[in-house]
Amino acid sequence: MSNKIAALARANVRALTPYQSARRLGGNGDVWLNANEYPLAVPFDLRQQTLNRYPECQPKQVIERYAAYAGVTTDQLLVCRGADEGIELLIRAFCEPGKDAVLFCPPTYGMYHVSAETFGVEHRTVAARDNWQLNLPAIAAQLDGVKVVYVCSPNNPTGNVINPDDIRQLLEMTRGKALVVADEAYIEFCPQATLSSWLQDYPQLVILRTLSKAFALAGLRCGFTLANAEVIELLMKVIAPYPLSTPVADIAAQALSEQGLVLMREHTRQLIANREKLIADLRECGCVEQVYNSDTNYVLARFTNSSLVFKNLWDQGIILRDQNTQPGLSGCLRISIGTREECDRVIAALQALAGASVSREQA
Ligand code: PMP
Repeated sequence: MSNKIAALARANVRALTPYQSARRLGGNGDVWLNANEYPLAVPFDLRQQTLNRYPECQPKQVIERYAAYAGVTTDQLLVCRGADEGIELLIRAFCEPGKDAVLFCPPTYGMYHVSAETFGVEHRTVAARDNWQLNLPAIAAQLDGVKVVYVCSPNNPTGNVINPDDIRQLLEMTRGKALVVADEAYIEFCPQATLSSWLQDYPQLVILRTLSKAFALAGLRCGFTLANAEVIELLMKVIAPYPLSTPVADIAAQALSEQGLVLMREHTRQLIANREKLIADLRECGCVEQVYNSDTNYVLARFTNSSLVFKNLWDQGIILRDQNTQPGLSGCLRISIGTREECDRVIAALQALAGASVSREQA
C-alpha cells in the first residue's frame, strides 16, 4: 500500500534527501551549538489578540520598521517565513523546472540545493576557491541557463565574507540574465559588509535576511527579502496569502522597535567577544588542526580526529555540527557561539580529550 503511495509522488521528491536541519538530527544535549541560534531566549509579549481575523499578508509595521533598519524603501521589501522561504520563492518565481538552473558555490548553505531539487530545477555548483572566495572564471563558464545565483555572505559554514569586488563582477556578468541572491542571514555580525546600498545599481540583486540569528528569534520563523520593486512584485504573486501568523508579526514588530534593535546590537557585541575568546582557546587545543576566522556567530575548525571529537562531545550533551561531508571540509566541525559558559564547556571537553589521548600515547 505505502509503496503505491510513494509511486504517486513526483520522481524528484521520491529521490530527494531532505535538508538535515539541526532539529531533525536530534541529539540529547544541554549545550546546543549546532544551529547558529542565539543561546538565550529573549522575552516578548503577545499583544495582538485578534486571532479571529486573518493576518495582513505583509504586516505594515514590520515592513516599515525593517525597511528603516535595512535602509531600503518599503516597496523593496518582502517579509516571509524565514530566509528559507525567500530562497524558495525566488525559485518558484524565476525558474522553469526542467529548463532553468540555479548556481551556488559549495561549501555553503544546504537549502539552495534542497529547494532546487524540490521544484525539479537543475542545481549547478562551482566549488569555491581554497580561500572560500568565488571562482569567477568557472562561474562565468557555467552561467548558461542559470536564472538564480546564490552567494552566501558571510558564508555558512566557513564564516567568511565574500569579497565585494567579486560580487560586483558577478553582478556585471549576470546583468539582464540572472538574479544574484546575497544571503545575508548573518550580516548583523559584520554589518559593514551588507550590499543593501547596491540595490539601486543592480536591478537583479536580491538580499536575504532573517530574525533567526542576531535577533534571537529562530523559533519565530521570520525573514526578509530585499530587492527592487519589480522583483518583490513577482515574489508577491507566488507567496502564500497569509505567510505570517498574527503572533509572528506582533513579535517581529517588537524585535524591530528601537529598544529591540539596541538589545540585538548588545547581544551581537557579546557573542563576538565570546567568539574571539573561543577562537583563541581553540587554537591552544591539541586536537585542533586549524581554526578559521569568522564574521558570524559560529566558528569552523578542523580537527585531527573530528568524528571522535564530535561523538565524544555529543555523548556529554555538547552538540556541534559535523561538516565532514561538505566539499573541502573533511575533518571540520562547526561550533555555534553560545554563552561564555557554553564555550568554556567546549574547550574543557576538548582539553580533556587531548589529555586522554596524550596519556594513551604515553602509556
Ligand atoms: N541562510 C543561511 C546562510 C542560514 O544559515 C540559514 C539558517 N540556517 C538560513 C538562510 C535560513 O534562515 P531562517 O531561519 O530565516 O529560515
